Amino acid sequence: MIRPTELIQRKRDGGELGADELSELVLGYARGEVPDYQMSAFCMAVYFRGLSAAETFALTDAMIRSGETLDLGAALGRKVVDKHSTGGVGDKTSLAVGPIVAACGVPFGKMSGRGLGHTGGTLDKLEAIPGYRVELSLDEFVAQVRGIGLAIIGQTADLVPADKLLYGLRDVTATVDNVSLIAASIMSKKLAGGAQAIVLDVKVGDGAFMKTLEDARALAETMLELGRRAGRQVVCLLTDMDQPLGSAVGNALEVREAVDTVCGTGPPDFSELVLDAGARLLSLSDLGVDLDDARGRVEAAVADGSAHAAYQRWIRAQGGDPDLAALPTAPVRREVSSDADGVVESLGAIAVGMAALHLGAGRATKADTIDHAVGVRCLKKRGDEVRAGEPLAEVHAQDEPSAVAAVAEVRAAYRLGDEPPRKQPLLLEVLTN
Ligand code: URA
Repeated sequence: MIRPTELIQRKRDGGELGADELSELVLGYARGEVPDYQMSAFCMAVYFRGLSAAETFALTDAMIRSGETLDLGAALGRKVVDKHSTGGVGDKTSLAVGPIVAACGVPFGKMSGRGLGHTGGTLDKLEAIPGYRVELSLDEFVAQVRGIGLAIIGQTADLVPADKLLYGLRDVTATVDNVSLIAASIMSKKLAGGAQAIVLDVKVGDGAFMKTLEDARALAETMLELGRRAGRQVVCLLTDMDQPLGSAVGNALEVREAVDTVCGTGPPDFSELVLDAGARLLSLSDLGVDLDDARGRVEAAVADGSAHAAYQRWIRAQGGDPDLAALPTAPVRREVSSDADGVVESLGAIAVGMAALHLGAGRATKADTIDHAVGVRCLKKRGDEVRAGEPLAEVHAQDEPSAVAAVAEVRAAYRLGDEPPRKQPLLLEVLTN
């Protein structure tokens, strides 16, 4: 039997742990035999000392073995592809990519998480849709993906339970933003879910866990290596999160924007990311198409309405009302007007995310409930010209005081200048394993 104290001490002093030791520690923790205080100390030791590639793989493998695994590919008799984002502000990509990919004939069965802090979660956005059921049994999930090619559900309790426990612990012990721990957390869920090819959207910047390109590259490389060791194809897209993605931040507002994008009328930056991620998923699938052909197919699915039809089928299959008129709306809407003429030099992603959170769109703690109607629409983005008095953004609130506070917060998120800022592409780098 391992002594957690010895392992904590060895990691604290910069030593290396064996795969068996990490496995016993993680599985012992998942069984409730290793207490939170020892696991917290271990996470802090990892935070400062890091994990080697072999240790990160052993940790990921042990986390997967803490619960059940799903072989969606075998159940469907198809190669299964999946996508994941490391989290950001205004990131509703899966809501738009899912129907597009499904319309192109590639099954898309995804388990998603909830948001915490300034980042939003796909499940919270889906729950803005009246009637939508995020909790399907695994049998229902597989049957829906087989039947209509698309399902997005909440992470089941049986899949990687160690991550659920560890993530909750890391969240309250300031040990979330460590490359090895994030990589193991994300990849354990993706590998346990059975995807053979995975597109990972690694967010970089102010609103992301990884603030610099170097850190994002390190996270991407770690996840690529985990994929390589597990025999899965992984593509990492490093994408800009210095400003919110698209215009909408807030659950129902983001669903609207995702549907607009599926119909071809979404904001340019978000639409480009959706088409790119969709094309990459197709090119990794069993359709046997290259990236150019895949791009043509996803664009066609948007243009001919088949992606929108797939969206409607999906939402109905999960009990929801796909009509946009059914989405909740906030009673108070206020413009954030510009004080001066100028060009938007920057638009802080965290600041907009926090404004939305304060309006009630997110959770400060796990116990908080979400107001799906509220949020912010950023009408001007980095590089856009604006005249004094023109709207920069729009705040959707439940009452006047919260609207007034959010208008001030969102205005402060905008920095205007005289010259257009250096052009920064949304897609910064693509790395593959
Ligand atoms: N997303 C996850 O699933 N886990 C992390 O640790 C960070 C982001």
